[in-house]
Amino acid sequence: MAKKTLTTILDDAVMTDAGLTLNGVVLQQIIDKCEGCERVVNHETGSNYCTSYSQPASKWIQGVCNFATHIRAEKDAGGKIKINPLKASKRAARGR
Ligand code: SF4
Repeated sequence: MAKKTLTTILDDAVMTDAGLTLNGVVLQQIIDKCEGCERVVNHETGSNYCTSYSQPASKWIQGVCNFATHIRAEKDAGGKIKINPLKASKRAARGR
């Protein structure tokens, strides 16, 4: 049986002097808070990039990234934001 090869949007990215570039946009590497997210892809250069955002750090400036698959932000009864890291494990338990 042939091994299935995953393709991502990063397959079309090219390395330039400015960095990994996709359609003219320079991609920034992920930050520590992205670790564990399913949207992280390891590029052949050995660095990790997000398949959804070119600048992952900017998605965390005002709280939790809204596309993160490993953490979810929720508001409690008092209106404070709580971070729920269990979203990924719940998905795994449901088989998705
Ligand atoms: S979707 Fe958000 S949390 Fe996930 S890798 Fe991209 S920027 Fe990071």
